[in-house]
Amino acid sequence: MNVGILGGGQLGLMLAEALTRLNTRVHILESAAEAPCVGRVAGVMRGSVSDAAVTAEFFSRCDLVTYEFENLEVGALRAHAEKLRPSLKVLEVSQNRINEKRFLAQLDVWPVVFQVVPEGEHLEAAVRSFGWPCIVKSALGGYDGKSQFRVTDEAGLARLPAGLAGGSVIEETLELRMELSCIVAREAGGQTHAFPLFENVHEHHVLESTVVPARVSETIRAEAVTRAIAIAQALQVVGLLTVEFFVGTGRDGVERLYVNELAPRVHNSGHVTRKACSLSQFDALARILSGVPLIQPTLFSGGWCMGQLLGDVWLAQGRAGGDLDLTVWREFPSVVEVYLYGKSEARAGRKMGHFLVHEATVEAAVATARRFRAALMASGARGVAR
Ligand code: ADP
Ligand code: MG
Repeated sequence: MNVGILGGGQLGLMLAEALTRLNTRVHILESAAEAPCVGRVAGVMRGSVSDAAVTAEFFSRCDLVTYEFENLEVGALRAHAEKLRPSLKVLEVSQNRINEKRFLAQLDVWPVVFQVVPEGEHLEAAVRSFGWPCIVKSALGGYDGKSQFRVTDEAGLARLPAGLAGGSVIEETLELRMELSCIVAREAGGQTHAFPLFENVHEHHVLESTVVPARVSETIRAEAVTRAIAIAQALQVVGLLTVEFFVGTGRDGVERLYVNELAPRVHNSGHVTRKACSLSQFDALARILSGVPLIQPTLFSGGWCMGQLLGDVWLAQGRAGGDLDLTVWREFPSVVEVYLYGKSEARAGRKMGHFLVHEATVEAAVATARRFRAALMASGARGVAR
């Protein structure tokens, strides 16, 4: 069996490892010479889906092809749609916020109150009629808070671009109490398996940590899982679907569970499943793609925290990229994994690795994660002084 992955970043790398454990041969299509998969996975083909000849050659090597990010040219994939998992339709819905919101609005799963602004329509006038506080999000290409504009007053309105290519959506700004995500694995035969609900903390729009079990009521937990499964079923996803949720208060003043956005793939918040669950998100997708039946992933006891390692940690250690000084790990036995993605260029805010903490409680795991990150950054200061 030959499985292809479009994209050779850290998500592709961890998925490739899981596929290899199932004796499935992996092929990666990646344009960047420095991507995490390059040099670590044998079957890397250098190129991009926008090159039709490269894409045709890549798909000819594979029985099925999946992707590690949604920002792909669907036109270039149309000729190969029968091999794509999740399907081209799922990709079309989830890569475009206008399609995504319209799809969610029909399902009665409570997306955040929104208004579509088609390309060519005047953005400022649309925002004025929608009212603020609000967030304008580009329909295409945004991630980690990129291509988003918050409007809180007239001055914010003046800072908006005249319009955005591909159109945009305006959303009311919620007062957030919590962000959550739920990953659903759906097999080719339609069986669904939801992972435990994750609690996510973002800093500057980048996922900083994921905590499990999420500290929410049983009602919210059950409702989030039910909605995530309903969306995966409605989209007939074969593979994984990650659903991001908000618990927050909008203009009506009532706190609710809202659906934020969808990602039909392994997700940053799912790294915690590598140790916290009986089946990781990577193993689940690898099994679906390899035709191996799934088991329901169960959560191990205690509290878990995934901490993202951003380029800032490398910079604090005076390092340009690559390895990190992990000497302090010796003082943290409850840190059960440190995974460095092997990126050679450290930049502030760039995802360069992650670590997982297992303690008796969630609170203890969060506290250890904070201390571990601080210790890593401080060991840099010592390293530089030496
Ligand atoms: P992406 O993850 O693709 O960058 P999101 O729509 O998830 O885009 O937005 C990024 C982050 O911005 C969210 O995780 C959340 O912290 C914040 N955010 C997004 N939409 C809203 C909203 N309507 N109200 C309040 N905060 C929001
Ligand atoms: Mg998001």
